[in-house]
Amino acid sequence: MIINKISDSDTVRKYAETHDILPAVTGDMAQLVGAEVCRTDEAGGLSQLERNMTKSAAFFTPDGVLFAAGRSEYEAGIAAAVVEKCMRAAVEAEALGGAVPLNRADAEKLRADYIVNYSAAENSFRQESERELRLRDELVEYGRKVLEAGLVRGTWGNLSARLDERYMLATPSGMDYMRITPEHIVKVEIETLKYEGPFKPTSESPLHAAIYMGRPDAGAVIHTHSDYCTAFAVARKPLKTEDPELKAIIGAIAEAGGPGLPGSKELTENTVRALGNNAGCIMANHGMLACGKDMEQAFRRCVAMEEAAKREIERI
Ligand code: 13P
Ligand code: ZN
Repeated sequence: MIINKISDSDTVRKYAETHDILPAVTGDMAQLVGAEVCRTDEAGGLSQLERNMTKSAAFFTPDGVLFAAGRSEYEAGIAAAVVEKCMRAAVEAEALGGAVPLNRADAEKLRADYIVNYSAAENSFRQESERELRLRDELVEYGRKVLEAGLVRGTWGNLSARLDERYMLATPSGMDYMRITPEHIVKVEIETLKYEGPFKPTSESPLHAAIYMGRPDAGAVIHTHSDYCTAFAVARKPLKTEDPELKAIIGAIAEAGGPGLPGSKELTENTVRALGNNAGCIMANHGMLACGKDMEQAFRRCVAMEEAAKREIERI
């Protein structure tokens, strides 16, 4: 449950000075908050919301602060805005003979129906898009981290996250990590590689998609051209580490994949084969790749693989 608070509204303050209850005066109010909204102190009101938000999802305090609850930030925000609107309408209606509240039984029925039926589509839509927004933000954030950690130079390398069973979100091709915003992130259908919007997804989309298809445990994939891993890549040698700390982060690292030009079918096939069920692999004459359950784990593995490669080269 999310609670939204309106503490700077003259409408609510004035209403609270002269009323101790707002009965549902419109259908949308009844749907969003129930048959009535009462004046009560903050602690009492909050504990009532915790106990039974489906009965009355809002209250206001004697000093004019309005609290409204919802199942998402969106719903809580709309509930507060609608209650404030109804307070204003009820006060203005006094000049017109006074507000006529809805019949209580009708209001309760509207509320019950709304919770089960009317809002279901909006709520599942919101949850999905809130997840998408969060992942878009993360891709932007981790793109910058990959650049700042020196794992790529320029626009090379790419990142993706699994959105759901059907789609992945991927960085756009050839765009500066420091200038990418969440709107530049591309939604790509995993099976067909079809994408939406004006920006082209990374040229390694087939590789990212192939990993999501073969590895249900992968929630994020990061491909870099980091310096020490590149040494292994150009030598076409697998990277191994005996360091227990790095091993714990990376898990198993695969053999080096066979060569293939950037964006090619050959590179995708060789890399997927080399990755197998491991956390990461070296990509011959190219760079490295790591996957993880989420962006953070994939990133930590990229950093750890680069560190492992550095220590190995310094050791030899
Ligand atoms: P993109 O800019 O298309 O993601 O390509 C960079 C890269 O590393 C290709 O292997
Ligand atoms: Zn690359």
